[in-house]
Amino acid sequence: MNDRTPRATGDVDVAIVGAGIAGAAAAYFLSPQASVLVLEREAQPGYHATGRSAALFSEAYGNGTVRALTRASRAFFESPPAGFATQPLLAPRGHLVFCTAEQRSLLDAAATDMAATGTRLRPLKSTEVRVLVPALRESHAFAGVLDAAAQDVDVHALLQGFLRGARARGARVVAGAELLAADYSAGRWRLATRDGEYSAGVLVDAAGAWADEVARLAGVGPLGLQPLRRTAVVFECRRHAGARDWPMAVSADESLYFRPEAGNFLASPADETRSVPCDAQPEELDVALLVERLQAATRFDIRRINAKWAGLRTFAADRSLVAGLDQHQRFFFWLAGQGGYGIQTSPAMGMLVAALVTGCELPGAIQDQGVTPELLAPIRLRSGVA
Ligand SMILES: Cc1cc2nc3c(=O)[nH]c(=O)nc-3n(C[C@H](O)[C@H](O)[C@H](O)COP(=O)(O)OP(=O)(O)OC[C@H]3O[C@@H](n4cnc5c(N)ncnc54)[C@H](O)[C@@H]3O)c2cc1C
Repeated sequence: MNDRTPRATGDVDVAIVGAGIAGAAAAYFLSPQASVLVLEREAQPGYHATGRSAALFSEAYGNGTVRALTRASRAFFESPPAGFATQPLLAPRGHLVFCTAEQRSLLDAAATDMAATGTRLRPLKSTEVRVLVPALRESHAFAGVLDAAAQDVDVHALLQGFLRGARARGARVVAGAELLAADYSAGRWRLATRDGEYSAGVLVDAAGAWADEVARLAGVGPLGLQPLRRTAVVFECRRHAGARDWPMAVSADESLYFRPEAGNFLASPADETRSVPCDAQPEELDVALLVERLQAATRFDIRRINAKWAGLRTFAADRSLVAGLDQHQRFFFWLAGQGGYGIQTSPAMGMLVAALVTGCELPGAIQDQGVTPELLAPIRLRSGVA
């Protein structure tokens, strides 16, 4: 990969399909070592899951592998390279789990689970919960636990930082370039796209909800990745309009979360509805369910819903991310299954992809967190291990 001899236009070492956060981070970390092309179907990078997230960074979220990748990402978020972004990528938020009396055992289980990987938690009494989140009804503020280290992520700045940095290192990012066909012969991928023909040595599949579809286009067997739709809204509420510093409040039964959002509130019913890969749209029923749950748990006077959307969180069977070469097609690299954690794990995943694609050892910061290539390898999903 160190041979940067110019080839014919459109012939690169690595072609990445998808300019969401996964593809953008991979391009950023790969581009110092290889010639890189990013193919994005939409007119704008980040149009799908990446542009629709709740933007939380929490080291207590997800399974052990996800948490390790999140911890390995923290240093990049806190101190990105000079010039990466003009504003901080993280802002203090906190992550509060609250419960009713009946949900007490769920709260205790969540606290044990969150603490298991070293997250420092503060147990909260009812009065303390209501000081942090005054909108909660007494019934739903029975008790709580707070992870004060959770942060908001500036997803726009992060995505643009990766893309700008990748371009500055020579990568090409082509929008409106849907991959239509991919054939591997004579040591090269021939890629037919809506923007014309390209060729590459390695194909990285960072197509989010479409990752299995892109694999099929390349003659690679799918991994059974499942897109799950999640709904979110931003609503206006006069009573708590000044709230800025409340933590992300999550119910212990994981049926509701909300936090302040620029003078309004962002909320989700934390739905997980199976979907085909598509431009996901919010269902009226899910929005109605969310409003019903908000009214049961809080005293928000919801004046107006200013925005509503849905996005696809795409999971592997074991809910860990997938990164590695396919066992049958050694020049097809999977970068998929980011689920609900693709933003907070993106720096570590980008570094990890760059190491694995170029045949290097994982960076020490990732190894130190106990992440091994085997934990992420696609083969685990084919061998019945998951
Ligand atoms: C409501 C919601 C809340 C979330 N909250 C959080 C959170 O708080 N923290 C967190 O870390 N994560 C969160 N997530 C998850 C996070 O958004 C995703 O894990 C992440 O954005 C996935 O990134 P991606 O690049 O894999 O996918 P995407 O952003 O979907 O990018 C894939 C890209 O591939 C392109 N593509 C597909 N097929 C082709 C093709 N044939 N040719 C060319 N391009 C193609 C698509 O157009 C798309 O742009 C949330 C998600 C949702 C929906």
